[in-house]
Amino acid sequence: MTASKIGEDTPAKETVWESTKSGFSAMFGEDCYKSWLAPLTFKKFFSGRLVISAPSRFMRDWVQTNCSKEILLSLQKVDSSILALDIIVESSSRPQLFEKESSSLSNHNSLADLEPAIETSVDSGSEEDSQGVMGSRLDPRYTFENFVVGQPNELAYAAARRVSEADKVTFNPLFLYGGVGLGKTHLMHAIAWHIQTTHPKRRVVYLSAEKFMYQFIRALRFKDTVSFKEKFRSVDVLMIDDFQFIGGKDSTQEEFFHTFNALVDQNHQVIISADRSPTDLEGLEDRMRSRLGWGLVADIHPTTYELRLGILQSKADKLDLKIPEKVLEFLAYKISSNIRELEGALNRIVAHAMLVGREITIESTQDVLKDLLRATDRRLSIDEIQKKVAEYYNIRLADMHSSKRARSIARPRQIAMYLSKSMTSLSLPEIGKKFGGRDHTTVMHALKKVNELKSSDISLAEDLDLLQRMLQTC
Ligand code: ADP
Ligand code: MG
Repeated sequence: MTASKIGEDTPAKETVWESTKSGFSAMFGEDCYKSWLAPLTFKKFFSGRLVISAPSRFMRDWVQTNCSKEILLSLQKVDSSILALDIIVESSSRPQLFEKESSSLSNHNSLADLEPAIETSVDSGSEEDSQGVMGSRLDPRYTFENFVVGQPNELAYAAARRVSEADKVTFNPLFLYGGVGLGKTHLMHAIAWHIQTTHPKRRVVYLSAEKFMYQFIRALRFKDTVSFKEKFRSVDVLMIDDFQFIGGKDSTQEEFFHTFNALVDQNHQVIISADRSPTDLEGLEDRMRSRLGWGLVADIHPTTYELRLGILQSKADKLDLKIPEKVLEFLAYKISSNIRELEGALNRIVAHAMLVGREITIESTQDVLKDLLRATDRRLSIDEIQKKVAEYYNIRLADMHSSKRARSIARPRQIAMYLSKSMTSLSLPEIGKKFGGRDHTTVMHALKKVNELKSSDISLAEDLDLLQRMLQTC
């Protein structure tokens, strides 16, 4: 099909496209151009819409999210009759991972002659998530570049990088686990983005366990299990997020088990995330549980103050707005539950500052996040921390308040002070008061000591990590 047969004024528009495209490298950078923009090709022009095609849905989504507005603007600078930009997907030889989108989403019937008709438009707003029947859409923000690495996630990060960069399958499956909001989904997407970018021919399917179940049940209902099996067993990399939801659903578990075995036998990579380790997953058959642990099991630990601060700094750097370091430190101290909550807090103070046009200060932050900070305080009290730490080290609760200086007692007390500071929003004097009326400088000394020991004493670092986990879930 030649372009000139299908649209009005097409040849001239193709020239506009080509000349504008030649400027993309300077506009977006050489790497971005090579990876994402060079493969875009002109298709046609009609009713003010310039239609270009991308070789995969994945690329289309990326361009759509990251560059389409600028592309449209530069086209319009050259030719004001271009009112909108449509990016369709024209896959090359590789099988379609995603089935055709529902027709209700497609409001351009005149594009029906272009196969396959997965399309999107700059001017019609972004599409809803997860339209692909087999896999789910990836979030363009969830890349390795945007992932801040710290002690709690370094193993999971290293494993994720290794799997996405390796040419040979080394650990199969890769099993990532950790509590909510700690970055599992972010890492999964980052792996998928990376593989798609470096090996565009590899078929990567990312989806949640729920979606896997849903599709399986649908296949059963429509008596289509053969093609379901074929589809899933022919992928190069299968990624299932939130695997804990598969537990207990017998037939889906069985099906997953077969798919899993088939892929692993063919040396295709399987990556799984869950909120707990294979051993702790409930409702799972033993043979499944043991196979899940065959590859590499990497956990993401609860955040540390340093990681939280690092994430806030990295996010703040990307904003136009200036956020004082003190405010970031304050947030990192106060909001210790998970990163999602931390991001939410940052977004709220930024939105507020932009609305009222005032500088961000600790006071304004306290005010804007009143409810959140109160909830954090309520969630955990110093009493609970003291109780847990005393139990853990097998000392008496009363020793938290006592003046005993023996290390076996003083150290747990210092740890409890440290946790009180990092896991509640109480001030140093308030904490001191709760520890037998100690002065705030004693608390400060304890924080300093524990901070020092954390990096030199592995067993203390592990104790802290474990205590933090226990306290977060109480
Ligand atoms: P999970 O899947 O473990 O519940 P997510 O991956 O959805 O958590 O992470 C929650 C939010 O926190 C996301 O917006 C994610 O981008 C962000 N996030 C998590 N870990 C990091 C990190 N190490 N660096 C930057 N952002 C992170
Ligand atoms: Mg998740």
